Amino acid sequence: MSEAVIALESVSKTYGSGAATTQAVSDVSMSVARGTWVAIMGPSGHGKSTLLQLIGGLDRPSAGRIVLDGAEIGSLDATKLAAVRGRKIGFVFQFFNLMPYLTALENVEIALWLGGAAKRNGRAMELLEHFGLGDKAHHLPGMLSGGQQQRVAIARALANDPDILLMDEPTGNLDSAAEAELLTLLDGLHQAGKTLLMVTHNPAVAARAERVLQVKDGRIVADTRNGTV
Ligand code: ADP
Ligand code: MG
Repeated sequence: MSEAVIALESVSKTYGSGAATTQAVSDVSMSVARGTWVAIMGPSGHGKSTLLQLIGGLDRPSAGRIVLDGAEIGSLDATKLAAVRGRKIGFVFQFFNLMPYLTALENVEIALWLGGAAKRNGRAMELLEHFGLGDKAHHLPGMLSGGQQQRVAIARALANDPDILLMDEPTGNLDSAAEAELLTLLDGLHQAGKTLLMVTHNPAVAARAERVLQVKDGRIVADTRNGTV
């Protein structure tokens, strides 16, 4: 039983036109079984972020199909796509993208509000407490360390309890203590059954994943499973 929660069929993404064309993603087909922890590696500028944004419905493919939980997202209009994204996907951006004039708590609350899921008073605070940030709830992002901002971003991504968590280089600028904490947190999410896709340059971080995709020139050039040598 390995139901695919994410399936890509011949997905390409081209930016620009004419001489200025960039083929960021080239004919990628793959699927991810529910509950898998996947690391995506590869050199800079080779299409990793684009791939994640396509899967997350933040950008649309130029060609091919993307199926989430059995539903093709390419044919959805903007409103329906936003609804699917809000319900199924949590996105952790490379530079967190927290709103600087909102507190940690408000950053999570706004995601709850936008997600339109059943509202429950106190959920934003529960999430922050779960990630050890209860005492930082009323701080602005600028008053938090990189690791703390990262955890607020993850709390926000989890606000609407998505099945799929997409993370773009979440360990990129964390010190080793914050990185270890993040990995423990991700282990917990993996055990809770979330599907995790994480772009990382760090081989030690990728070693914690179950599966590693290597991206080069917009293609998946290797697909390996950890711990099954
Ligand atoms: P990575 O995340 O692996 O560093 P990206 O997916 O960000 O790579 O970029 C892949 C290629 O697509 C690069 O050549 C980049 O310059 C280009 N690219 C990414 N986003 C855009 C965009 N919005 N407009 C034009 N080109 C883009
Ligand atoms: Mg990138």
